[in-house]
Amino acid sequence: MTTKQKCIFLDRDGVINKDKVDYVYKPEELFIIEGVTQALLDFKKAGYLIIIITNQSGIAKGIYTKADVMNIHRLVQEASNNALDDIFMAPYHETYHNSLSRKPGSLMFERAISKHNIDTQNSWMVGDKERDLIPGKKFGLKTILVENKKETPFADFYAENLLGASKIILK
Ligand SMILES: [Mg+2]
Repeated sequence: MTTKQKCIFLDRDGVINKDKVDYVYKPEELFIIEGVTQALLDFKKAGYLIIIITNQSGIAKGIYTKADVMNIHRLVQEASNNALDDIFMAPYHETYHNSLSRKPGSLMFERAISKHNIDTQNSWMVGDKERDLIPGKKFGLKTILVENKKETPFADFYAENLLGASKIILK
């Protein structure tokens, strides 16, 4: 049996790149948040896997396609020196049908934990919304809320952004 791996789970929009009300899917609208590249490199250096878990309901709504999302992910990989080990996305929205994958559902986490043999006790979830943290808590991940001033019982820590979160995780 292979050794379990510690992992940083990340939401994408609002954590890696600046979020937009009407979805980020055009390359020219992708703005990586300051300090993200550094944080990702520091996580890799410390031996963490990095996995993005993202809701992309714009696909269900017909606003953009899976190919648009894959293109954005390719650009994020380029910007981060290929730091991302895996990306899980839920293209669903409850207006069309219910999904166990779409956060706060936990199926994407369950898949990732199983596929990569994750050591959940030593892993973290960083998100900018409560719904990112709810499924993380379900699996015993430590959680950090970033870019959001609201308090939630699901956050173990709060940070200004991913770089701030990395200081908490790697201290
Ligand atoms: Mg987000």
